[in-house]
Amino acid sequence: MWSLERPAHSARSTFEICISRVRDPGLAVRLAAATPTIVAASAQFDRAARHSRLHEIVAHNTVDPDITVEEMNKVYTQRMAKSGAPGRDVYDEIFASSPNGRCPLCMQRSVATLDHYLPKAHFPSLAVAPLNLIPACSDCNKAKLDAIPMTEEEVPLHPYYDELGDEIWLNAVVIERQPTALRFVVTRPAGWADILSTRVANHFRSLGLAALFASEAAEELLNIRHQLSVLRDAYSVDGVRDELERRAASCSAVRPNGWRTAAYRAWFESDWFCNGGFLAPR
Ligand SMILES: [Zn+2]
Repeated sequence: MWSLERPAHSARSTFEICISRVRDPGLAVRLAAATPTIVAASAQFDRAARHSRLHEIVAHNTVDPDITVEEMNKVYTQRMAKSGAPGRDVYDEIFASSPNGRCPLCMQRSVATLDHYLPKAHFPSLAVAPLNLIPACSDCNKAKLDAIPMTEEEVPLHPYYDELGDEIWLNAVVIERQPTALRFVVTRPAGWADILSTRVANHFRSLGLAALFASEAAEELLNIRHQLSVLRDAYSVDGVRDELERRAASCSAVRPNGWRTAAYRAWFESDWFCNGGFLAPR
């Protein structure tokens, strides 16, 4: 997971923009009356997130004084997410907030939607709260489903609040037989608390990141295999190892915990791999 800057818009300004063009006078009055609840829910979310207490936010099925889950869902889908909707600029800003349009949760696939960190079906007061909206790819969005965290360990990682740091936590292990592959694992750095370590492990498992990274790395190997063969013919095993190490250093400079960094490090450290393990199986 990558950390992201928190969105610039407040829950109040976002909600007010979203409900600025409601034509039904009765609905407009009811939505406006819910503004203090929306603002308070976002403030509570922010406090809870800063102290790792997000599992203590209680699921609810109405927004005081009298807005239903369905009505709040519509505020999100029709007044924020829909093209041309009054809140669409805020949606677009959050959508575009991750580097290179990559999903901050898997760090690999393209952002395709906004994910409700706490699902809007169970937390309607947070349906348009920017702190509860994270840019995400479709797969990560679907994998999260509508799960409600019940314990601190179950609280998903949050790109606006959780900082994993630059210590190495993503590693790969070369499977030293043909066909070779990489097995990606989370290795706990010294600075991580028990809870963070468990939460990262849950994140890694629930989003299927080991399989995603193994597949990307297999594709990467196809692309470098020819070059590695040429290097081995010219400079023997050291030529291969040096090239892989240079690539690891270059990847690490920008993403110390990217799958490429982990892959190149595992490859150059494996004598078996450098000595021809990279070749296509016969
Ligand atoms: Zn993703």
